[in-house]
Amino acid sequence: MNDQSFETLAIHAGQAPDPVTGAVVPPIYQVSTYQQDAIGSLRGGYEYSRSANPSRTALEECLAALEGGRRGLAFASGLAAEDAVLRALCGPGSHVVIPNDAYGGTYRLFAKVYERWGVSFSPVPLADPAAVRAAMRPETALVWLETPTNPLLGIADIEAMAGIAHEAGALLVVDNTFASPYLQQPLALGADVVLHSTTKYIGGHSDVVGGAAVTASDELGERLAYHQNAMGGVAGPFDSWLTLRGIKTLAVRMDRHNANAARVADLLTRHPKVTGVLYPGLPDHPGHETAAKQMRGFGGMVSFRMASEEAAVAVCEATELFILGESLGGVESLIEHPARMTHASAAGSPLEVPADLVRLSVGIEEAGDLLADLEQALKKA
Ligand SMILES: *Cc1c(COP(=O)(O)O)cnc(C)c1O
Repeated sequence: MNDQSFETLAIHAGQAPDPVTGAVVPPIYQVSTYQQDAIGSLRGGYEYSRSANPSRTALEECLAALEGGRRGLAFASGLAAEDAVLRALCGPGSHVVIPNDAYGGTYRLFAKVYERWGVSFSPVPLADPAAVRAAMRPETALVWLETPTNPLLGIADIEAMAGIAHEAGALLVVDNTFASPYLQQPLALGADVVLHSTTKYIGGHSDVVGGAAVTASDELGERLAYHQNAMGGVAGPFDSWLTLRGIKTLAVRMDRHNANAARVADLLTRHPKVTGVLYPGLPDHPGHETAAKQMRGFGGMVSFRMASEEAAVAVCEATELFILGESLGGVESLIEHPARMTHASAAGSPLEVPADLVRLSVGIEEAGDLLADLEQALKKA
C-alpha cells in the first residue's frame, strides 16, 4: 500500500470497503463498547472506544500512511496531541527548545502549564542552527519545530534540526500543521514525531476540531498510544469520519491553496499600503531556499504588515469575502489580526507578534474574486 502515491493513499489507506455491507466509506462507529465472544476474546481488537474505535482506526492508519510513519494517533484537538507527546516524552527536569515564533497556544502550553510541572523551555530562532546548538542542554529531551511558523511564516531546515537534536540525544518533533503532509513530510527528513492540528488543512472544511501525532518508530508509537489511552483525549467517531472525509481531497485542495496564495502574495508585494509580505514562496523570504528544498509547494498562508496597528485592524474589518475569524486551512478564505486574536496569549512574552501584522488563510475560491476583495479592503485601510 505504501508504494502508492499520496493522492491514492489519501482516498484508500485505512479505508477498505466495509466487510459486512460493502459500504465504500468506513462507517461512523458511534459506539462506546463491543461484544466479546469470550472474556478477552475481541473481534478485531476492539473492547472500549477510548482505547480504539474503528472510525478512529481508519483515520489513524490513513494519517500514518500520508506522513510515511509507523503509527498514527488521532486526538480531540491539536493541543491534546501536543499534550500527549509532551507527557510521553518529557518529565520533571526535562528541557525543550521551541521556536521563538511558535503558535500562541503551543507557547501557552509550555509557559503556563508545563513550566509548573518542571519542564523548562527555551524560545530560539529555529532558522539559525547555531542558536539551536547553543540552546541544547544535557537535559534537552526535545527540539520542537514548527515550519512554516504561525503567524510569521518562518522556515526551519528540518534535516539540519534533526541532526542537531539527535547529536545531543534529543528527539525532533515537527508541527506540520501549516504545510500538511502533502507539501512536507518531516519523518523522511529525520523527524521522530509529526504533529498536526487536523482542524486546519487536513480536515480542511472548518467543521471539526482535531489533532494527530505520527511517529517514525513503532516504539515511539507504542509510548504515545499508551498515553493516548491513559490520558483519554481521543478523537470521537464522528470527528474521525469528518476528518477522513476532508483528507480525501487534501492534495487537490493544497494545489489550489498554493496557487491562490501565490497570486495574493504577488498582489500584496506590489501594493503601496503594504509594508512587508511574509510568504515563503517569495524569493526574498529568508527561508525561501530551504522551503523550496523541503516543501512541494509554499502553502496557503500569507501574512503581511501595514504601516500601523490601526491600518492592520482596518483591513481585517473591511474585507467582504475573506471572513474575519481565527483558525485556518479551510476552503473559505479567512483574515485575522494575530496580536489581538490568535496570538493574544503571547502578549508581553518573547513571542509577542507585531501589532501591524495581518494573517490570511487563502482559501480555494476563484483567485480573481479574492484579489478584488483585498484591493477594495486595502483602499479603505
Ligand atoms: C491551531 C494550531 C494548533 C492547535 O491545534 P488545535 O486543533 O486548535 O488544538 C497547533 N499548532 C498550530 C501550528 C496551529 O495552527
